[in-house]
Amino acid sequence: MGTYAVTGSASGMGAAVVQQLRADGHTVITVDIKEADVVADLATAGGRRAAAQEVLDRAAVLDGAVLAAGLGPAPGRDRARLIAEVNFLGAVELLEAWRPALAAADKAKVVVFSSNSTTTMPMVPRRAVRALLERDVPKALKTLRLFGKMAPSFAYGASKIAISQWVRREAVTREWAGAGIRLNAIAPGAILTPLLEQQLATPAEAKRIKAFPVPIGGFGDAGQLARWVVFMLSDAADFLCGSVLFVDGGSDAWFRAEDWPRPVPARRIGSYLAQMKAYRAIP
Ligand code: NAD
Repeated sequence: MGTYAVTGSASGMGAAVVQQLRADGHTVITVDIKEADVVADLATAGGRRAAAQEVLDRAAVLDGAVLAAGLGPAPGRDRARLIAEVNFLGAVELLEAWRPALAAADKAKVVVFSSNSTTTMPMVPRRAVRALLERDVPKALKTLRLFGKMAPSFAYGASKIAISQWVRREAVTREWAGAGIRLNAIAPGAILTPLLEQQLATPAEAKRIKAFPVPIGGFGDAGQLARWVVFMLSDAADFLCGSVLFVDGGSDAWFRAEDWPRPVPARRIGSYLAQMKAYRAIP
């Protein structure tokens, strides 16, 4: 049996993951702004530092971590900042602090919550994504605020693209794959949780969400998503590395069927060969 840290554990998919891991006999250290073993506000640097340390005080070795804490797009002047801090820094800073504890386990697994908004939301500003990857939230907000009332929506898309790119870049490095840690992301579509219910409570938002293409129809179930996460934490997922798994009823395929997979274009062949050369097999 393993020891896992789960953020966003008080509600929705995070809570469903905790329930399933505990039912399987694992030890889970929960992290949330309320009702958790470690109560911390991941929207502040101090809260993130305290959360990371308190988990390490409870477990020197982590067999895995699930980063589910997140805020959805909702109106509010400060909402874009909260989204950037919780959804992006709230995953990255905790994982960086936990990396040695994960490396100390045998084949630790990490699942980060992305979203299918990464590929289905149009016109997310790349500049904001880049700023987040540079850990410069004020710079990201400068771009996002140009979108006025839509700033929280674009902040959401940018935070999820940034976290997915961070996962894919880091997953394959010596620090993560080289240390035996499997780092992956899950990208859910519309899953019926309190986060989605909050969005459905606004009539205009509800109309937009219900009109959004979901080829399978309806909304996803938090318990089913949690089963995917638990699978990604299991030994069966030993060969999964740097993947973003879409579980979204087909929306991503509806919009982006031809975007991925696609051949490496001729103009990229130089950097492709350089990457081949740079690779050193992990012992
Ligand atoms: P949820 O609202 O049910 O749960 C999110 C949890 O995050 C809550 O327990 C909340 O307290 C916690 N949290 C929020 N702000 C925090 C803060 N400042 N500090 C600490 N904890 C904080 O949401 P959910 O739908 O279960 O979402 C889980 C993850 O999945 C999120 O990252 C979300 O962006 C992502 N996601 C959700 C959907 C969906 O349709 N529900 C779709 C795609 C991605």
